[in-house]
Amino acid sequence: MSTIVERFKEIQLKITSLKPLKPVNIIAVSKTFNLDYIKPLIHHGHLHFGENKVQEAIAKWSEQKKIKQDLRLHMIGKLQSNKSKDVVKLFDYVHSLDNQKLADSLAKHQSNLNRNLKYFIQVNIANETQKSGISVNDLDGFYNYCVNEINLNIIGLMIIPPINQEVDKYFKSLNELNKSLALENLSMGMSSDYIQAVKYGSTFVRVGSSIFGARS
Ligand SMILES: *Cc1c(COP(=O)(O)O)cnc(C)c1O
Repeated sequence: MSTIVERFKEIQLKITSLKPLKPVNIIAVSKTFNLDYIKPLIHHGHLHFGENKVQEAIAKWSEQKKIKQDLRLHMIGKLQSNKSKDVVKLFDYVHSLDNQKLADSLAKHQSNLNRNLKYFIQVNIANETQKSGISVNDLDGFYNYCVNEINLNIIGLMIIPPINQEVDKYFKSLNELNKSLALENLSMGMSSDYIQAVKYGSTFVRVGSSIFGARS
């Protein structure tokens, strides 16, 4: 068996052993790795994969998605609105929805292409100046706009917590914000902190290097 599949199964086991209240989806973050390298995990039957660059994802996944229509692709990286059309065509989930211009553009292309993606609003929970995401203060307004004005299917909130800090309090806060909006899903947890994220109710963990190895 491939080591990629072995590592994936270990992560699955660790998550199951935490007895999460809701099913946890592992998004295998395959950015920078080529399709041949990823294929063992596809052949294993895994369906959820994450990418952070639109052009790279098109080159890697367009054909594969036609062959295997139950694959689900997750856009997890910073998005410019001029990429919206390509995103709507290829992806099934967007985790990095963080501004109105982008939301408007995605909504327009969805209706043109008759697609309906699932969205997470990215929250800049620690108000880090360099980081993207909606501020906690603007979250209610932005959420209401997306749902009521442009009909986006918002399924939860997403964070990338500050590095080199205790993540627990950020995961806890995001969980509380999610509940205040009555949202069902949470996108939090990466290779270094998916265990904590699951303890705080994450339903989509985004795991790259722990499955595929270090990126160059
Ligand atoms: C790359 C990336 C991940 C995966 O990170 P690992 O530490 O390799 O698990 C998760 N989320 C986002 C937004 C990423 O860009």
